[in-house]
Amino acid sequence: MSLKEEFVDLAKACGADLVGVAPVSRFAADDPVFKLLPSARSVIGIAFRILRGTYRGTEEGTTFYQYTTMAVENMEETVMPIALLRLSNFLEEKGFTASPQRRNQTIRQEEGGTNPEVAYDAISRGRRAENRMDFEAAAVKCGLGELGFHGALLTDDFGPFVRYVFILTDAELEADPIVAPHLCDRCGECARGCPGHAIDAATGRRDDWRCAAYYIGANGLKNPFMPPDAFKDFPDRLKIIAGEAEIDEERAKKIIDNIWFYPPAQHSYPCSICGRACDTACYRHLEAKGALKRKFARPFRSRAEWKFNLSDFEPNGGSNVL
Ligand code: SF4
Ligand code: SF4
Repeated sequence: MSLKEEFVDLAKACGADLVGVAPVSRFAADDPVFKLLPSARSVIGIAFRILRGTYRGTEEGTTFYQYTTMAVENMEETVMPIALLRLSNFLEEKGFTASPQRRNQTIRQEEGGTNPEVAYDAISRGRRAENRMDFEAAAVKCGLGELGFHGALLTDDFGPFVRYVFILTDAELEADPIVAPHLCDRCGECARGCPGHAIDAATGRRDDWRCAAYYIGANGLKNPFMPPDAFKDFPDRLKIIAGEAEIDEERAKKIIDNIWFYPPAQHSYPCSICGRACDTACYRHLEAKGALKRKFARPFRSRAEWKFNLSDFEPNGGSNVL
């Protein structure tokens, strides 16, 4: 059994679903990979499925905690780090250096940006992440999948329902081919699916501050916990609730500070009320096309999408509280 076969077997035993290896020749000479481990010979991408069932509560409009805890917090803070450590130990036991790389969720990835998955006041206000790997680009170089229009990694098995980590190592493992893009057809469903219009319909670029506000439920039409008088001191409150307000960083912070309708998870992860509607829209599209390898007994969405009315938030409007 080759070193790679042993590694893949252990990765699967650690709960990983996909493993892809890129030789460092696929990375430019100034790539942070070489600052993190100058002797690196291989970059190993390890992807874990996000259970379809974790999106179910949002899809049903019933519980919103499970996606955040089981698909974000536990995967980022427990499942993937434990697997990374075991897999890195395995490589070092074989005499190779192994440098585990997980996302640093509380450091700005871009100047002026934020991470919508984490409370903005828990994110370092200092310099942005230096020498960080570009996770999306590295995942493609490792052959895990392709990048979709909205920037998410799309995989044949799970569509956008994956999270991933890396190990840099001086072991030379057999490379996997880069996947020729074939899943994303630029249908635009991801942009249309966002309740906050945070994804530019022309470029696919995500406005992270806009996303941060709508990720935690600024759109009242998709938030069963928002009281009818929400944002009562905001002159454009109905535009915010409809997902159509003008929002920059300062505005996003004010809006976020007025969203307290649902408790956060631990590790500064606010609860996702949008339930990653961009990804679920993409998933439904890929599923309907028959493009995904993993088949299920029932389609992800089997009835019309639930939604409240804007009039519920107008003075003397109906109540949307469940
Ligand atoms: S929803 Fe359509 S455009 Fe967006 S990433 Fe998926 S396939 Fe591409
Ligand atoms: S659907 Fe949610 S995660 Fe996706 S861009 Fe919109 S607010 Fe952000």
